[in-house]
Amino acid sequence: MQRLPAFAAPAALLAVLLAATPARAAVPEPAVDAAARSVNAQVVAWRRDFHQHPELSNREFRTSQKVAEHLKSLGLEVRTGIAHTGVVAILRGGRPGPTIALRADMDALPVTEQVDLPFKSVATAEYRGEKVGVMHACGHDAHTAILMGVAEALVSLRKDLPGTVLFVFQPAEEGAPDGERGGASLMLEEGLFEIAKPEAVFGLHVGSALNAGTIGYRSGPFMAASDRYSINVQGRQSHGAWPWKGVDPIVVSSQIVLGMQTIVSRQLDITRYPAVLSVGAIKGGIRNNIIPDKVEMVGTFRTFDPAVRQQIIERMTRTAEDIAHASGATAKVEIADDNNPVVVNDPALTQRMLPTLERVAGAGRVVEMPYVTGAEDFAFYGQNVPALFFFVGVTPAGVDPAQAPSNHSPLFYLDESGLDLGVRALLGVAVDYLQGTPR
Ligand SMILES: [Zn+2]
Ligand SMILES: [Zn+2]
Repeated sequence: MQRLPAFAAPAALLAVLLAATPARAAVPEPAVDAAARSVNAQVVAWRRDFHQHPELSNREFRTSQKVAEHLKSLGLEVRTGIAHTGVVAILRGGRPGPTIALRADMDALPVTEQVDLPFKSVATAEYRGEKVGVMHACGHDAHTAILMGVAEALVSLRKDLPGTVLFVFQPAEEGAPDGERGGASLMLEEGLFEIAKPEAVFGLHVGSALNAGTIGYRSGPFMAASDRYSINVQGRQSHGAWPWKGVDPIVVSSQIVLGMQTIVSRQLDITRYPAVLSVGAIKGGIRNNIIPDKVEMVGTFRTFDPAVRQQIIERMTRTAEDIAHASGATAKVEIADDNNPVVVNDPALTQRMLPTLERVAGAGRVVEMPYVTGAEDFAFYGQNVPALFFFVGVTPAGVDPAQAPSNHSPLFYLDESGLDLGVRALLGVAVDYLQGTPR
């Protein structure tokens, strides 16, 4: 070790001391905690109201109106109608500082609620030509209410708050209806980050996989990229009694389904990144004694790395085409162009905000999660700016999260204490980032 000259020691010591002293917070922690507490009851009430009045993707008319009314009542600059029903508001703090974005999604799912609550949803809507029940089975009602509460809390701290906050209330996270576009990618295309360019974006999701009181995160790739695909197998129709007079696309499709099972299990290095390849539907034929001329399969695959995604596309195409070719049929593989990218948590940002999450949740209550094979269109924001996305547990204490009905289940249940933690987490992350603490 190199010895410092004697005169340098005090200066070096001073530098160490200065670095260890956090920047003096303009908004002290007790004020932040008090602001969170003051919106708590309202957040619960808003969430129950949204829960009772869920709306499908790109149809969040009532929800976005309630959101916009609230944001206007806070005196914020509000824009509506972005990506159909999106609402964006800007809060300018009383002091100079960075710009951040906080995002919530607003849409519900075509699921008929089976949870017995006083504010249970009995809403219905038309979806793909059918009448369906509508339910906030993914908990986006909670996200919307939490961000409304965070907006109110930040407005109450505005005078001493450095920087600017862009509140993003996003429609259609679950996917736009057939033939429509929507969600995060459309908000970005319509100029979301031209309203104010954030240097970091934050979002959360309530989840059944964690008990209430717990926050889950993962640095780097976190939630999967999701792709839809279709495979059309073309054979030649014949009588079921004389299969040799045709080319049977049902047998070929069966072989393709089995052949594709070896892509993840035999052909990918799953020690680096996991992957999932599923067939969700097979359609072909009409009658017991007619071999049809074609079969259509559709499915999804989930990846955590662009190179693995490309490998799956190439291997799936090769497998389907070559198996079909071996039987004298043809197979056409198509990958839909509406894929969700990987949700990547910026490692430096994640590291920086962890102490905040640990402070609001309490010691030992912030857990590193495994890869999540579900997808989130929050990923698109992360492609533009460093992002942090985390889960807030909502499975009641004493219930095993592995046994709890998952998000999207008609039995999905949210312990409302998760709302309070969600507010404190998002608010804490926002305030700490803006004023440069912790470092
Ligand atoms: Zn969902
Ligand atoms: Zn969701």
